[in-house]
Amino acid sequence: MLKIDDFASFSRVATPFYYYDIDLFRRTVDKVAELSERTGIHVHYSLKANSDRRLNEMISSRGLGADCVSGDEIDFAVSCGYNPKKIFFAGVAKSDKEICQAFQVGIGAFVVESLEEIEIVSDIARRLGRKAPMSLRINPNIDPHTHHYITTGLYEDKFGISDRSFDEAVAMVKDNPYIDFYGLQFHIGSQIMEVSDVVKLECEKVNEIVALFERIGLEVRNIDLGGGLGIDYDDPDGNPIADFETWFRTIDENLVRRPDQTVHVEPGRSLVAQSGSLITEVLYVKKGENRRFLMVDAGMNDLIRPALYGAYHKIENLTAHYEDGDGRGCRVYDVVGPVCESADCFGKERALAKSHRGDRIAIRSAGAYGQVMASRYNMRPFAPSVYSDRVTEAPRKKNYFANED
Ligand SMILES: *Cc1c(COP(=O)(O)O)cnc(C)c1O
Repeated sequence: MLKIDDFASFSRVATPFYYYDIDLFRRTVDKVAELSERTGIHVHYSLKANSDRRLNEMISSRGLGADCVSGDEIDFAVSCGYNPKKIFFAGVAKSDKEICQAFQVGIGAFVVESLEEIEIVSDIARRLGRKAPMSLRINPNIDPHTHHYITTGLYEDKFGISDRSFDEAVAMVKDNPYIDFYGLQFHIGSQIMEVSDVVKLECEKVNEIVALFERIGLEVRNIDLGGGLGIDYDDPDGNPIADFETWFRTIDENLVRRPDQTVHVEPGRSLVAQSGSLITEVLYVKKGENRRFLMVDAGMNDLIRPALYGAYHKIENLTAHYEDGDGRGCRVYDVVGPVCESADCFGKERALAKSHRGDRIAIRSAGAYGQVMASRYNMRPFAPSVYSDRVTEAPRKKNYFANED
């Protein structure tokens, strides 16, 4: 069950909102910073997973860098205190405007994803009288055994440069006066659970490709392994911190690196997912023909992962636990939102405590790709952030019936 220090105060906050467990978040970031120091593997947080300002300020203050995928993410990262030299800019289709934004800020590296993009970035560098620090994103054609929407390292995916184009890429980069070649980047997908197997395979492939590039004449100063470490959506309380130990150790043991080569990873999901929950309230318990619907006041516009990927999130009735001591017994519900789409469903046939109108529900492990993917579909407002150590400062539920008491 989601831990809350003061449920009475928590239950007066207006729903829906994203609740961030600051203590867990701090411990997660500390763990990563500590492993980074121990192994010498640099960490750039992939900002697209969660762009909450306070969380990002906490990450940047631990000295981590940022991996960005848009011009506005770059500007936002700088405003959150990330060192511009520790910002990389990835993304398959960077616009001219975004490329210029990145030059203006003075980022550490462009991670370039196609031959066409090498040409454009080098041309813009020439016109600005600059030299572009550049890594090439490689499509290593390996399968991370994850959901097909979140693999990125196979030939059929749109990402990266594949081995068929290596010679041409090298020819374009080598001796180009507008490019400062930096290294190679590999990001093979997301929610990788068989860490030791998949990452070992990835490292072996990366070793081969780095050696190949150096043989054909480019010095690889930086090796960037991307993100992708998975988290436990089934048991957020049992595994609140992702298996960073195994991830760093597997890389440390399997990646060949010279003392003059730097290594990066870019975790997104694993740094933020377990610290966030979407908190919502039951509006109606509707008895359908052959199922019971729990209709809550958060919708797919607040958290789209179940609708988009069929993603699983653990769902809990907090009121039944904190107010009634888990004495209510169980029922099976489909937990659905108010948006006019059948896909607006957070979970089908979930066994939950018998639920009533007004109960507080937590949708767990929602810190990554949750709030950042929110929309205002149906003109619904954005759910705000509420931090565990500042619950009393959060907007309160309104009482529309003051005349009644
Ligand atoms: C999305 C992304 C990441 C982070 O992936 P997670 O699965 O959230 O860890 C890292 N690098 C790049 C280039 C990405 O696009």
